[in-house]
Amino acid sequence: MQSVKDRNPNQPEFVQAVQEVAEDIYGWVEDRDDYHEAQILQRITEPDRITSFRVVWEDDDNDIRVQRGWRVQNNNAIGPYKGGLRFSPGVNESVLKFLAFEQTFKNSLTGLPMGGGKGGSDFDPHGKSDAEVMRFCQSFMTELYRHIGPQVDVPAGDIGVGPREIGYLFGQYKRITGRWEGVLTGKELSYGGSQMRPEATGFGAVYFLREMMKAEDEELEGKTAIISGSGNVALYAAQKLLDCDAKVLTLSDSDGTIEIKDGLNRDQLEWIQELKFERRGRISEAADEFDGIEYHDGKTPWSVEADVAMPCATQNEIDKDAAKELCGNDVRFVVEGATMPTTADAMELLRGEGVVLAPAKAANAGGVAVSGLEMSQNAERMSWERERLDSLLTDIMADIHHKCRTAGKGDDGSIDYRRGANIAGFEKVADAMLAYGVL
Ligand code: GLU
Repeated sequence: MQSVKDRNPNQPEFVQAVQEVAEDIYGWVEDRDDYHEAQILQRITEPDRITSFRVVWEDDDNDIRVQRGWRVQNNNAIGPYKGGLRFSPGVNESVLKFLAFEQTFKNSLTGLPMGGGKGGSDFDPHGKSDAEVMRFCQSFMTELYRHIGPQVDVPAGDIGVGPREIGYLFGQYKRITGRWEGVLTGKELSYGGSQMRPEATGFGAVYFLREMMKAEDEELEGKTAIISGSGNVALYAAQKLLDCDAKVLTLSDSDGTIEIKDGLNRDQLEWIQELKFERRGRISEAADEFDGIEYHDGKTPWSVEADVAMPCATQNEIDKDAAKELCGNDVRFVVEGATMPTTADAMELLRGEGVVLAPAKAANAGGVAVSGLEMSQNAERMSWERERLDSLLTDIMADIHHKCRTAGKGDDGSIDYRRGANIAGFEKVADAMLAYGVL
């Protein structure tokens, strides 16, 4: 860890992500002389390469704007680099390195042949016109296209990058290269996207929760859940929770939280999905529209009593104080829909209190798993039916759950899902690296 810290000064998110994996696998790798001799730990914590580039675009007032873009190609031992693009003002190299590192083990857990990568920009799509977003995406792809390809690196969406951005990015790739090929996932259905891809991360997280509950002899039906976020992960997790007859008590965005005391109903959810996906509005507008919804400005959901907490917004959103609130309210399950939403000290507290935690790299792997299936469909020039994809997603989440439980079983029979996810995700990548010799 000291050498990781020395090599990555001022990159706290990256160091945090590495520390979390290192803590969990350290005891397990101790006896693996083959890993030690091959310096696997040192190699796996160094990205294959990072490309950073200038993105210049013109806004609607004809002012020239300059942004920075990146692609972190972390590890391609088990397949082409794969992972989303994040457009948000908070994006920097540390954030993208931590996300690419996490992605590598998450993708490994899906069982599909995908390496790990991540990219993005400090561009903020909020408040920009469609034409501005298009010009930015075209400029971004004009540099990125030379670093990606269906057998090389296959980006997708993430925070700030949805179907609109993917459309502009894919169009520009096609225009520059003259090739229609499966170089991005998260595409719309009209041009090679996959059924179930929009829903996959949120649905997958709930499928994982359902498996965890089954293993504890519990049922999702009738349980209450607090969700943070109101993007694609949060809103499809909410939809699947309603399908399972659970109650959703909160949703949020970066301005505040809405609380729905009687539980969100289908009409409200559909209205909010339209608000967020089509109109790009703020979550507070839901409280103006519906009597049963209250808005708490500047608040997070973590003080509301519930059985399950699903952080589905962004990294480090549950800090120690939030974790104390969750424990004080006897929250039993925390399901990480976002990547690394729990700070290290919050995690320690939740673990100490015996809260069952579904770690991000397992719980939110459904999105990238269906992206992997989108790549397969593009490669065979076919599109599969929704039922088939939903059933594959259900099986993949059950398989990930099984891997985490098996690798995460302690000597006393207790289950640590985080440890299990880290060990199982790591092992496959490390074994592939060993097979290639010294490179
Ligand atoms: N951004 C999503 C993730 O973090 C999806 C990545 C993908 O589909 O490649 O897993």
